[in-house]
Amino acid sequence: MTGQFAALTDQGMRRTSNQDAILAEPLEGGWTLAAVADGVGGAFGGEIASSESIAALRATFASAKFEDPAEALRTAFRAANVRVTNRVADDAALANMATTLVAALIRDDSAWVANLGDSRAYLFSGGELQQITEDDSLVAEQVRAGILTPEQAERSPYQNVITRGIGVDQDITEIPVTPVTLPPGSMLLLCSDGLFRPLSLDEIALILRNGSVEEIARQLIDRANANGGPDNISVVLYRQPVQVPTE
Ligand code: CA
Repeated sequence: MTGQFAALTDQGMRRTSNQDAILAEPLEGGWTLAAVADGVGGAFGGEIASSESIAALRATFASAKFEDPAEALRTAFRAANVRVTNRVADDAALANMATTLVAALIRDDSAWVANLGDSRAYLFSGGELQQITEDDSLVAEQVRAGILTPEQAERSPYQNVITRGIGVDQDITEIPVTPVTLPPGSMLLLCSDGLFRPLSLDEIALILRNGSVEEIARQLIDRANANGGPDNISVVLYRQPVQVPTE
């Protein structure tokens, strides 16, 4: 038995296109695959980088017989990177394109979350919202190094600069994968920065408290737009069943 999931993406109020791409689908063997990619670079580049990365994930897992979910995610991320860097090599107009990619493989009460860039995964459990991923961004690195406070980071004009991602480098040497235990009724939220920048963590947590996954995803997007919708907004939400049946 798998949980419920919902996925929504929205252009927001200020952008002329949506360069985010999302994925949420069941795989064989009781797995669910979820992902958010937030493309950057040029008029079309960002859109191509994010959609190519999602296509690479889907293709990798379409033929999926994998033993180790963490390694399977790393393989899929490398495939996405090859796909995006090859497109860049073929077309000078796409030279600056890249994308964030956060992806989760979920089965039973376990999830594995891989991340490059500044899209995020959160676990919502027992009313508490906890960020699972670490941002690969200039400001996050400065906060970790003690150069900026988190408050200064939130006001930085360089908030959008990512330091790692798909298409940033020819080789990705290290892809962090975090294992997560999903308590009954908990939720895993993947999102782009268009959600978590205009909303506070408290606002997100409040919305996560009630409703179906579809209603919650819709409300998160509506709230981000009500708060100005400065960027494309993407939400992929997975809810663990309240009772996990014993077999
Ligand atoms: Ca964004």
